[in-house]
Amino acid sequence: MQDETDPTGEQEQSLQTPLQYLPGMGPVRAQRFSRLGLRNAQDVIFLFPRDYEYPAAASKIDDLQEGEPASLVGKVIDAEFVSRRPGRSMFAALIENESGVVRTLFFNQPFRSDQLGLDQCVLISGTPKMNGMRMEFVHPKVTLLDDSENIPEPRILPVYPLSDGIKQSQVRRLVAETTERLAGDLVEVMPGHLRQDAARELRKCGVDLQGDLASIDVALKSIHQPLNRQHLFAARTRLVFQELLVMQLALAMRRRKLTTDLHAPPLAVSTMIDARIVNRFPFELTKDQKTVIGEISRDMARQFPMNRLLQGDVGSGKTVVAVYAMMLAVAHGHQAALMAPTEVLARQHYQTLSQTLSESRVRVGLLCGSLTARERRTVLEETAQGKIDLLVGTQALIYGGMDFKSLGLCVIDEQHKFGVAQRVALRSGGIDPHYLVMSATPIPRSVAMTLYGDVELSTLRERPPGRGKVNTYLAQDQWKDRWWGFVRDRLDEGRQAFVVAPRVSVVAGDGEAGEDVASVEAVFEDLCNGALADYRVGLLHGRMHPEEKQSIMDAFADGQIQVLVSTTVIEVGINVPNATVMTILGAQRFGLAQLHQLRGRVARGGHEGHVGVFTDGDASPEDNERLQVFEQTDDGFELAEADFRLRGPGDMLGRQQSGLPPMRIADLIRDHDVLLAARSIAQSMIDSDPELSGEGLHELRRQVLRRYGKRMDLGDVA
Ligand code: ADP
Ligand code: MG
Repeated sequence: MQDETDPTGEQEQSLQTPLQYLPGMGPVRAQRFSRLGLRNAQDVIFLFPRDYEYPAAASKIDDLQEGEPASLVGKVIDAEFVSRRPGRSMFAALIENESGVVRTLFFNQPFRSDQLGLDQCVLISGTPKMNGMRMEFVHPKVTLLDDSENIPEPRILPVYPLSDGIKQSQVRRLVAETTERLAGDLVEVMPGHLRQDAARELRKCGVDLQGDLASIDVALKSIHQPLNRQHLFAARTRLVFQELLVMQLALAMRRRKLTTDLHAPPLAVSTMIDARIVNRFPFELTKDQKTVIGEISRDMARQFPMNRLLQGDVGSGKTVVAVYAMMLAVAHGHQAALMAPTEVLARQHYQTLSQTLSESRVRVGLLCGSLTARERRTVLEETAQGKIDLLVGTQALIYGGMDFKSLGLCVIDEQHKFGVAQRVALRSGGIDPHYLVMSATPIPRSVAMTLYGDVELSTLRERPPGRGKVNTYLAQDQWKDRWWGFVRDRLDEGRQAFVVAPRVSVVAGDGEAGEDVASVEAVFEDLCNGALADYRVGLLHGRMHPEEKQSIMDAFADGQIQVLVSTTVIEVGINVPNATVMTILGAQRFGLAQLHQLRGRVARGGHEGHVGVFTDGDASPEDNERLQVFEQTDDGFELAEADFRLRGPGDMLGRQQSGLPPMRIADLIRDHDVLLAARSIAQSMIDSDPELSGEGLHELRRQVLRRYGKRMDLGDVA
């Protein structure tokens, strides 16, 4: 037990010792350090450096470059006070080695005269300046050496996160001392045989690791006090691997739980069923579509639910694949549900399905907010009785407690949102439906493997034939007149146009800052009275009533409206093949994914598309870099990777949405190879020992459950 009455005494410290009782801390300092998220000794040991300072390698005096950090070893050959005035003293020492002589200067450090006596060997490091004929170091870092033969390798220094009132040197000392004293008490979660397997797998995945993975105490000592770069690399690899392994074990447990606890109807495809479905499509499926349909049918033939994410750009033909899967369920006498994020999209899906199935006996139902109470009741009844085979609706409605007679497949169209929907308990006569989630936001592989680690991935990269090319122009403000001229030319050719602006109107109180924000209403006025005065221009935004929105969109689809000025509500859902030009205003306010979605709205017919991208004045260099990437590539996957690189995974995914704890040391971009190794090891561990009950795995299992048990609903495994 911790002795609370004698906190300063010499009694045993443990990993649980509160911060304030660690040597040199006390209540005040502990309070300050707690802002770094530290509560006890163990937290201190796991406070990872955010960076390192690498000392410059020892150099020869001839090689010194003014302004370039360098280190030198030499002997003091002359030393004296240039000035002794108190408070303004100056001490100079000349350091010599076989390559020459440099001068060092120290202000107000009188103790240097004791340190730097004649013939003293020193290691100095700093940034030299030319003074007259000689290089000079002002206030270099000085290490006293016993003799010039025995030079220590320059140390790598950890750089820790700081907070108000805390100095780097204080954190360094606290972490170094605590680690030195207590790292040996840490419980090893990866037994020796696991570390050996891991090292082998890491090398297989391309990680340049020598020997086995370090044990936890060695790894922690080296992450804080690395002897050299190899040690640091080995230590970091061990800690990153552990963090990723714990996560991948949780995901593997969840995958396993879904396959053993849930029971779905096996819905195998036969040649006849396949032919019947494929004949409904007025086109040949693309090679990618066929591959993906193969993956889906294999999943659906099993007795546990499919859990698959289908990703592909807007227009890559995902809906067609979903229709195939839904027909497969119906062919086996089960129902299928298609959930869309908005009513507009639900209606559009409903129309597509109704058309495709107009000459079949398959009955399609629509459930959305604008139904009357009676219509709604009818749809609910018919779904419960099994009279409706395919139900299309908004997610909110279908999640809100539906009864199906026998739901075999649930398709969720996420469109552009991240985050695979949680599986919902849909009551359906005792069976668990297969799940297919569609996303138009391509996700970099390493993100998919973490966030969606319990989900299988299918990808459509190839685009169906018959779509026009889209040209993107990152435009300067002074081109606006020319651009509107270009838009008028396209309109005169009979095409239609979108104009997208980021806000509905300037928010009251925004004052001058708000004035250059393009607002759709202002843009609409401007265009009606100016550049597009001779054309039929419509306005659409999210604050309109659903019926009003619908009628505007219908008018645009019919060609009554030639130009649609809108907010990003058009991002989801509008399909007007004749619309070939898009103007995006205030583009720096949009993320890459969103811009790409917007661009997907033009050139849906055979005509070439054109997108003009304008910023409204306050774009940062990062914004411009992002927009340049957008101009240069039309490949959704490349854009997703770029977004990932430019903004980092956290920003891209949004912590709240992902629901996963942040990584403490792993970096999904840098540590991709380690992730692959962790995933592979985790899968084979869970395959052979689903409960992790094997020798020496107890602690590992505890860590998995502590970190992910609740979030991933692994309760039963515990
Ligand atoms: P997504 O859902 O990925 O946005 P859709 O499935 O709606 O894409 O397909 C976009 C357009 O391409 C639709 O008009 C669809 O009919 C058409 N399409 C899909 N697959 C093919 C194909 N294999 N050949 C020709 N056209 C296709
Ligand atoms: Mg779609």
